[in-house]
Amino acid sequence: MAQSGRREPAPAGDICAHRRCTLGYSFRDATLIPHLALPHPGRTAVRMNATSGHHVLPVSRLGDLFSALRSAGWNLAGPRIRDGAIVYDELETAADLPAGWTDEQAPGKYGLKKRGDGALFGYVVGPHSWKKYLFPPTVRMWSATKTADGMEVEVPQPAAPPTAFIGVRACELAAIAVQDKVFLGSGFVDPVYKARRDNIFLVAVNCGQAGGTCFCSSMNTGPKARGGFDIALTEILEDGHRFLLESGSERGERLVALLAAPAASDADRSAADAAVARAVSMMGRTMETSGVKELLQRNYEHPRWDHVAARCLACTNCTMVCPTCFCSTVEDVPNLSLDRSDHVRTWDSCFTSDFSYIHGGSVRPSVKSRYRQWMVHKLSTWHDQFASSGCVGCGRCITWCPTGIDITEEVREIRASDGANT
Ligand code: SF4
Ligand code: SF4
Repeated sequence: MAQSGRREPAPAGDICAHRRCTLGYSFRDATLIPHLALPHPGRTAVRMNATSGHHVLPVSRLGDLFSALRSAGWNLAGPRIRDGAIVYDELETAADLPAGWTDEQAPGKYGLKKRGDGALFGYVVGPHSWKKYLFPPTVRMWSATKTADGMEVEVPQPAAPPTAFIGVRACELAAIAVQDKVFLGSGFVDPVYKARRDNIFLVAVNCGQAGGTCFCSSMNTGPKARGGFDIALTEILEDGHRFLLESGSERGERLVALLAAPAASDADRSAADAAVARAVSMMGRTMETSGVKELLQRNYEHPRWDHVAARCLACTNCTMVCPTCFCSTVEDVPNLSLDRSDHVRTWDSCFTSDFSYIHGGSVRPSVKSRYRQWMVHKLSTWHDQFASSGCVGCGRCITWCPTGIDITEEVREIRASDGANT
């Protein structure tokens, strides 16, 4: 059973049970070694604006960036193809990237196809998000073992493998900032999240195209990364395959200096701007956000909730793929000889009836009440709880919903008949 912990203000009529919810260069530059007390990339080290001029790196030298990070002790994680999707996984070299592939996304639909060029980041976000590294799906919190005298409790140190995230999109940087507020900035610090968050290096990639379910422009979170990264890349395919490099932290600047990348020309900068402008023009969806907080709260009994409930399977996909959802539950897992039990935290979802099971029953017994709770929280009560939207416009919940429920459409329909309460 999911227990009630931290609670967001609940709209009238509902009870909230949401829980916390490489090359011959020497890259052994000590300033890049993750275990040294480096400034925190997301909260103290990274300045919110670019800190240096722009540089340009030919695609043939992207591997140098990877090698530099690896030589400094960072594990690399980034996009690669697995099981018919582009997911985040361990990377060895730049050759692991999905070169020449793109994705096609629509409500309830995802597929890969060849692009016809050698783009390394020519796709948008897939079913994975970086939260799987920072807020892992399963964590052993503590274990209890029977002893001759009673019981011994062991609390493991939170694991924090130094990891460079390669290819973090602007909306994903925004999602990490949202989870920073949840796990670090709301009066309680989650030690598991903090240990991992303090040990990452962020290589952002500005989007050169948008997907059919993307709406980051509406949420003011992309497609260009404006801060929160160590280095940002923009892939340029015209007139020579290359990357525009921009540093966003002192250690990012040091890495760019180690690469000895030449300064970017006006043509390089214009080409990078054009790539981002192309992404803006391709944005698959929009959401009108003005007054959405109040709109949803005054339409708590709108008939549209019944319409969406008739299509929602309560499968939890939307919450699993969402980069900001943070609900979890805890379980005790005994061994077969019953002399040891592990206390394990796992991802949970507000779409299950168990999640809101309190005092003998679920406070959200209907699918309608669960979908409404999720969407109202994302777009409305999240503002009360964390002073921001809980949605960054990545579009994952639309793509990976088996029935193609579209959060932007739901807002549009409610807005179109504002006040049509039953
Ligand atoms: S609610 Fe949907 S579009 Fe918004 S951040 Fe979550 S998955 Fe992305
Ligand atoms: S909205 Fe879609 S993805 Fe989310 S629980 Fe319902 S059916 Fe599943």
